[in-house]
Amino acid sequence: MTAKTPIPLDQLREQVGACHQCPLADGRTNVVFGEGDPEARVLIVGEAPGKNEDLQGRPFVGAAGKLLDDLLAVAGLAREDVFIANVLKCRPPGNRDPRPEEIELCTPYLREQTRTIDPEVIVTLGNFSTKFILKTEVGITRLHGHVQQAGRFKVFPIYHPAAALYDPTKRAALEDDFATLGELLGTRPRPEG
Ligand code: SF4
Repeated sequence: MTAKTPIPLDQLREQVGACHQCPLADGRTNVVFGEGDPEARVLIVGEAPGKNEDLQGRPFVGAAGKLLDDLLAVAGLAREDVFIANVLKCRPPGNRDPRPEEIELCTPYLREQTRTIDPEVIVTLGNFSTKFILKTEVGITRLHGHVQQAGRFKVFPIYHPAAALYDPTKRAALEDDFATLGELLGTRPRPEG
């Protein structure tokens, strides 16, 4: 059996941009497909667009986006080096949690993005993307910072950067995990000693 040819990202972007499969289409300003290097070694997967992301049509803008840029720098990476996407492509009203039926309808797009980008590592940010990609009920508090496997992909769960905006004690854990990610990829020199 031959594997299906991956769908080019531009073609996928068009499909997602026209999607009305779930009711979140009605409340969106923009679809947030994701952005970055189409051949990235790292695919970063967050939860869903928030208010600023919906307005700009880009993932991780605003305070959480600025923090993500700083954390990527800890790993020796820049935003252009990675591809950033979300489990859901449209904003849930009032930033409520994604619903199971929305996840079911939207995630074929994320699966296709993953097949096309074919990353070495999928970084899952927060509980929703971690649980979806690893098909686990184990929470992020236990899984973060430890390499997991999902099919042929290495998965590296990390807290969602927004967590550090509400709880500054999470910042150190985030920095540690991004440092480990940099070591895993060889983009960050190991600290001496
Ligand atoms: S959230 Fe996903 S499934 Fe729902 S309308 Fe947007 S792109 Fe389509």
